[in-house]
Amino acid sequence: MKSLKGARVTVYCAGSAKTKPIYLEGAERLADAYIAHGAELVFGGGKTGLMGHIATCIIEAGGVAHGVMPKFLKDIEMNHPLVDDFIFVDTMSERKHLLLVNTEGLIALPGGCGTLEELLEAITLKRLGQYLKPIVIVNQNGFYDPLIQMLERMVEEDFMRPEHLQIWTVVQDPSDALDAILSTPDWSADALQMAVNK
Ligand code: AMP
Repeated sequence: MKSLKGARVTVYCAGSAKTKPIYLEGAERLADAYIAHGAELVFGGGKTGLMGHIATCIIEAGGVAHGVMPKFLKDIEMNHPLVDDFIFVDTMSERKHLLLVNTEGLIALPGGCGTLEELLEAITLKRLGQYLKPIVIVNQNGFYDPLIQMLERMVEEDFMRPEHLQIWTVVQDPSDALDAILSTPDWSADALQMAVNK
């Protein structure tokens, strides 16, 4: 893959309306990268936090955002008002599935338990050969240091194999996340053969 023009790339990120300015600025840098690459945002569809901010920045700069949201969140008007391409689903599980399929990769910005859960499910699916695209962790401000250490510890303790360290790519600056999507090779469906640490 040489270009992300017109490609859909998913971002998992915080919905918290109290998100600190440093992370909002990070989301702006990632939004700039989407515009520069001509990539399309796939996200949870929320109007608050990093989610709302990155979508606003991309749309206001002339880019494209696709929201995937459970109906119960639309019912309390959490849907982003500038996004016109929405898929509304019944459950969080359906949403997680749609955030994964038909995208060229996943990016995790800092966030709360929702972001962490989405990211870890993607890592688990990739370990099992059920998801083959790049997964980029944006370790802005060292936010994901404890998670990265935990994942590495899982390998050290033989709960995962050393090859599994290739499942995710870490960047420090949100501006670099789409370049990392481009430079990370797709995973092999044969990953299932090494899923179990023998
Ligand atoms: P969290 O990191 O806990 O804020 O959760 C963020 C993730 O959970 C997002 O990627 C969304 O898929 C989902 N989520 C959490 N809060 C919201 C919200 N207010 N609106 C839409 N989606 C949300």
